[in-house]
Amino acid sequence: MHHRTTLAFIGGIASTVAVFALLGAGGKVTSPTGTAPDRYVYYPGTEALEADEIRITACGTGLPAARRGQAASCFLLELGNGDKFLFDIGTGSMANIASMMIPMDFLTKIFISHLHTDHWGDLAGLWAGGWTAGRTGPLEVWGPSGARPDMGTKHAIEHFLQTYNWDSMTRQAMISPVPGKITVHEFDYKGENEVIYQENGVTVRSWPAIHAGDGPVSLALEWNGYKIVYSGDTTPTKWTLEYAKDADVLIHESMPMPGDMVKFYNQPPERGLRASCGFHTCPPAFGKVMSVVKPRLAVMFHWFNEEGTRYNQYDGVRQTYDGPLSMATDMMVWNVRRDEIIERMAVSPDDAWDVPGPGRPSAPDPDFPSQYTEFTLKGRFDTTEAEKKTRDAYNEMYGLQ
Ligand SMILES: [Zn+2]
Ligand SMILES: [Zn+2]
Repeated sequence: MHHRTTLAFIGGIASTVAVFALLGAGGKVTSPTGTAPDRYVYYPGTEALEADEIRITACGTGLPAARRGQAASCFLLELGNGDKFLFDIGTGSMANIASMMIPMDFLTKIFISHLHTDHWGDLAGLWAGGWTAGRTGPLEVWGPSGARPDMGTKHAIEHFLQTYNWDSMTRQAMISPVPGKITVHEFDYKGENEVIYQENGVTVRSWPAIHAGDGPVSLALEWNGYKIVYSGDTTPTKWTLEYAKDADVLIHESMPMPGDMVKFYNQPPERGLRASCGFHTCPPAFGKVMSVVKPRLAVMFHWFNEEGTRYNQYDGVRQTYDGPLSMATDMMVWNVRRDEIIERMAVSPDDAWDVPGPGRPSAPDPDFPSQYTEFTLKGRFDTTEAEKKTRDAYNEMYGLQ
């Protein structure tokens, strides 16, 4: 069964589906040697974005508990003007990001909704992996302050770099220092629809989220008259009702139904309800938020989407909301256009290599001190003779001495 039919079945975008039903999946194939004129899946790297279009890819939609099938929160926003943003980069999400085969130089702007690891745990993967894979410049991270300085994003990133000091120092010596830098833009978590980023026609705003303590925020990206809102983790807030108004897409968290928190997630009954409906949003509450905000499309994430849970989840939402809905899972892709929003699944390789971008990696800094001491170097077994054939062929191929 192709995906858009599924979407229609679960109450998706009526207008898109109506047109689509006439064409059939992939459009009409008119010759046995021809190709389908339309695609009902997204193959990364094969479709140019229209100048007035946004593509959103769910690179993580799950929970803190690790699972191969669903990484933790991460959404990639690609705009028709060429800008790309990561909203959260939760544990496990980097493998999905990499499978999109986007040059690392285009993946340097990360907005973090809050500092739970399921929302920024794979920053390490982007930071170090991107460093080895040809990123030429630093990363930039935007994230909220906390109620105390040691609870804010600036503290987190500074200590992230200290924690990974060995990694950083050795990569600086072996590759180049620049791509290992992280510029932090910490903003006030108390800002109410405050602008935290404005560049190249793109505005990102933030407002407080209510989740586990002070600090978490919800984010809105505005560009070309479009508005994409990302809730981060939160229980429903009045701020979202007000500031998500006119959203094209409202990506809002929802936990599994309370009973499924107990049945599948092994939560004690007291905590299952508190976690689902207390410091997160449970499906009927998600539906209520959507019924008030009425976005063009509601996207539900932050739950494990599987046979055991999705019917309860769906029934929970439909108690309170009957509008357009995507029940997200990893690698779901949305093309946001003026007249339609198309939901598809990305089909991406498990074995993707990093794709080079237009930038040239900077040369190693000759003044950067070696991280070896004589003690370690003395132990080296000299295999230069054994490597001679390989070295000579390599040097000849690349015109090195
Ligand atoms: Zn959280
Ligand atoms: Zn979370």
